[in-house]
Amino acid sequence: MGELASLFAPERVAVVGASDDEGSVGRAVTENLLADFDGEVVAVNPTRDEVLGLSCYDDVTEPADVDLAVVVVPASIALEVIEQAGEAGVDDVVVITAGFGESGSEGAAREERLRELAAEYDLNLVGPNSLGVMNTTVGLNATFGPENAQAGSLSFMSQSGAFITAVVDWANDRNLGFKDIVSVGNKAVLDESDFVAEWGDDPDTDVILGYLEDVVDGRVFLETAREVTAETPMVVVKSGRTEAGASAAASHTGAIAGSERAYEAALEQAGVLRVDTVQELFDSASILAGQPVPESDGVAIVTNAGGPGVMTTDAVGDAGLSLASFTDETLDRFAESLPAEANRYNPVDIIGDAPVERFTEALDGVLADPGVGASVVVACPTATLSFEALAETVVDLQAEYGKPVAVALMGGSSTRAASERLSEAGIPTYFDPARAVRSLDALREYREIRERETVGPRSFDVDREQAREILQRATDRGSNKLGVEAMDLLDAYGIPTPAGEIVSGRREAVAAAERVGGGDDVVMKVVSPDILHKSDIGGVAVGVAPEEVADTYEDLVTRARNYQPDATLVGVQVQELRDTDSGVETIVGVNRDPGFGPLVLFGLGGIFVEILEDATVRIAPVSQPQADAMIDEIDAAPLLRGARGRDPVDEAAVTEVIERLSQLVMDFPAIVELDVNPLVATPEGATAVDLRLTINQEKL
Ligand code: ADP
Ligand code: MG
Repeated sequence: MGELASLFAPERVAVVGASDDEGSVGRAVTENLLADFDGEVVAVNPTRDEVLGLSCYDDVTEPADVDLAVVVVPASIALEVIEQAGEAGVDDVVVITAGFGESGSEGAAREERLRELAAEYDLNLVGPNSLGVMNTTVGLNATFGPENAQAGSLSFMSQSGAFITAVVDWANDRNLGFKDIVSVGNKAVLDESDFVAEWGDDPDTDVILGYLEDVVDGRVFLETAREVTAETPMVVVKSGRTEAGASAAASHTGAIAGSERAYEAALEQAGVLRVDTVQELFDSASILAGQPVPESDGVAIVTNAGGPGVMTTDAVGDAGLSLASFTDETLDRFAESLPAEANRYNPVDIIGDAPVERFTEALDGVLADPGVGASVVVACPTATLSFEALAETVVDLQAEYGKPVAVALMGGSSTRAASERLSEAGIPTYFDPARAVRSLDALREYREIRERETVGPRSFDVDREQAREILQRATDRGSNKLGVEAMDLLDAYGIPTPAGEIVSGRREAVAAAERVGGGDDVVMKVVSPDILHKSDIGGVAVGVAPEEVADTYEDLVTRARNYQPDATLVGVQVQELRDTDSGVETIVGVNRDPGFGPLVLFGLGGIFVEILEDATVRIAPVSQPQADAMIDEIDAAPLLRGARGRDPVDEAAVTEVIERLSQLVMDFPAIVELDVNPLVATPEGATAVDLRLTINQEKL
């Protein structure tokens, strides 16, 4: 077990601020500790002689050998108490007291001091502003919640104390049990990553659950969780809290890749299953704790009811699962053993008059089939079927074959006993067959996570020095926003760009067009750090014939002046024309999340990106398989793969641009955000025709 073992399983606990005042937190904590705890409880309160039959110590240094101090004193004296605990050699402290970082500047200062004390005395400190911690192995309930949790193999952390009390109450009704529960409070010292690491090392924790609103150190969390989830599944409800940073963005990537997307990406990359509701949290948790992961995605449905069988089939289609097809052997067996009216193909419908023996035969047959990874049993109440007998046979067969099974018992109180029997055996039951399928899908998802290969990012041979000089030059000019004038930054990182020149006069424009276009049409663009989106002001002319170049030059300059008379005009870019008809405009961008650091975005590009928002995000560095997966994930993926008779684009070229930009943003912390939009992807390759970036000069 990990470093926090004694926090969850102390031998001697002191309640500092113990009280017997009706309705006080001090009383609730003391009562909860006295209820089931295997160890010893001591009370500390200088104003009393006795609390709930315990004689009181004046301070926490008096009782010897305290492992865990639970602090419930007022905020004004909390620091003093914690210092005393440190002096007394206490290792673990749970600070229930509120009035710290969550409440104004005085509280924030107090929290800072708390952090210093914890560092000084090397304290494992939970909170402040925590509901407390529980551990069912030793019966520890060091919380002021109304109910103790039942024993089980789920360990749960929550950023909301109230959510813990709600969940425990709810879970107790459903025979769901926990190993450890922690209310992380303000996370001044111990945060989510510490608990993930602890439970990853804990043989008694089968599934890690979390309710998170934010993450203290995104990078540490990502690394820790990635390692842990290779062995222990983790399911998280992440509530969206802030979109801070997104609104101030100057790039499309910044606007789209807000903190919500960063979280999504981080949880995905960390191998954490993310769910939206409490029900999904516990559906996933129960099946992950109770059932093995399936070896294949093929699901067999066994039912005594046609309609629900169809509903189940639909749910399989909606999930990442597939309907298993049976071997001839299985079909021959069913032809012999099932009535002629039954459907021996999947979904196996053993019809309404099925007694339990027919369920046994059908479930045995499908679980024996090598093409079946998992099974859903869907049963409606009938006069010929005993749910209890069905439960027994499902428990036996699941154990015999070791394949995961989920059960939909589509009835009311008549299902209760059967449902209890099944859940004791780790087999989840539901009314709704779709829920049964979704929970099997969580097993599949987790299998994919476990089987993931962790491939490091590729390292390309780039001209880093050249890139640094380009950024430095811009900084020297005092500009932190750059556009197409910095296209050579992309060249330095091996990202293909069309030929282009920036000019500042009619005749220069004509000469440049000749060099760049060689007599063919060109593209001309206004170049100004003050004009964010050039086409919005008519600042991009696509397909300019040689004889139109001079007039177009004038026209573009006039438009820029009309738009903003005092705009800094760098010039006009004359650029080689790319064939966008045979290609797809995509966007590749980078951004920095305050918590997770550099991230990379890929999506459908062009001038409507922010309207369509068809994009996906990864925390950098991005490996080749991750970059491939990004292309898969966008809704427009079929467009890239040759929809409507078009040739598919060169996906490998797109992947490589994603990876090279990832390398760029990892190499240069000074790049705050950057858009390549569009990256024109064609069957022949991928070319960046537009660039925009913001740099933080101090980081260069
Ligand atoms: P902005 O994004 O500032 O409006 P862009 O340089 O991205 O300016 O140009 C806008 C649109 O013009 C692009 O989305 C693309 O459709 C088209 N375009 C720009 N450059 C080229 C080019 N070199 N070849 C073909 N089309 C281009
Ligand atoms: Mg653009």
